[in-house]
Amino acid sequence: MNLEISKAINTLLGEPQRIVIIPHKNPDGDAVGSTLALWHYLNDMGQDATVIAPNDYPKFLKWLPKNEQIINFEKEAATAKELITNATVIFTLDFNHLGRIGQLQPLLEEASATFVMIDHHQEPSDYAKIMYSDVSMSSTCEMVYNLIEGLNGINRITPEIAICLYTGIMTDTGSFKFASTTSRTHIVVAKLIEKGANNTKAHSKVYDTNTPSRLHLLGCALKNMVILEEFCTAYITLSQEELDNYDFKKGDTEGFVNYGLTLDGIIFAVIFIENKEEGIIKISLRSEGDFSVNEFARAHFNGGGHNNASGGRSELSLEETTEYFTSLLPSYKDQLNS
Ligand code: 5GP
Ligand code: MN
Repeated sequence: MNLEISKAINTLLGEPQRIVIIPHKNPDGDAVGSTLALWHYLNDMGQDATVIAPNDYPKFLKWLPKNEQIINFEKEAATAKELITNATVIFTLDFNHLGRIGQLQPLLEEASATFVMIDHHQEPSDYAKIMYSDVSMSSTCEMVYNLIEGLNGINRITPEIAICLYTGIMTDTGSFKFASTTSRTHIVVAKLIEKGANNTKAHSKVYDTNTPSRLHLLGCALKNMVILEEFCTAYITLSQEELDNYDFKKGDTEGFVNYGLTLDGIIFAVIFIENKEEGIIKISLRSEGDFSVNEFARAHFNGGGHNNASGGRSELSLEETTEYFTSLLPSYKDQLNS
């Protein structure tokens, strides 16, 4: 990583600070893994640090060491508010604009702390004084590893830090298969295993803890899949009623969107998930190759992300949303078929 950035962070950490670490809303493996790893590292060096998540995260991440320390803003708003107001340093991890943290946004906008951003998404906004932003990175966890290296802290990587970072790299790279996975990613992962990350455990805790209802929900999603060969596209819908029928729990739909891409000739896969409580359709988009789902989500669904994995939302009904989506495809036909 850039020497200037590690120097600036090193200087900050040379003094005792009151530190808050924040992942994006609906934290995924990379967000939870990176914030928790950084928390372990800072806590081990004697800093006063706390992770505050905008909301809850899936059960398949609730085995990561000391994850119970994470404050859920939706459940402990007053404590979170006090910590943020009094913080001297705020690390924001795995997102790059404050619109990604839901109800925490106004609190961060008012905070007087020094902000540090560590993130690998496109088009960062400029709220942070210290910005480690690199879209070529596989994951924020790989970047936290680089930061620790930049701080000459490799010998302080404990098995707890190692398993948190391993898990985030594993989930954000689709188990080391996405295009963002580099030789450096594998070197980092190898070092993490040397440092005590139990790699088999990470895979089985995250991927082999299905419930029968989740598998039945997957069956429903696959049955609902619409394949538009003409546009090399496949999409899935899940209505609130279907989610309720299969006893939906947070995280249950993780990875469903990828099934579209397993079809031969399909390079664009999307899932539309109805959320009656928030009054929105949450959208996840994935692609293979050059078709940028980041640009697509930005242009049409108030979202963003990476070139091959992005998210967004719609305030139309589920049916209207898929109709609108389908109506957009003809203007992308050449790109989708190239
Ligand atoms: P997922 O579909 O797994 O929720 O997210 C895929 C990627 O897109 C992640 O990197 C995530 O951070 C990003 N992403 C998901 N939803 C949104 C959104 O509403 N806005 C933006 N800017 N990025 C999103
Ligand atoms: Mn990430």
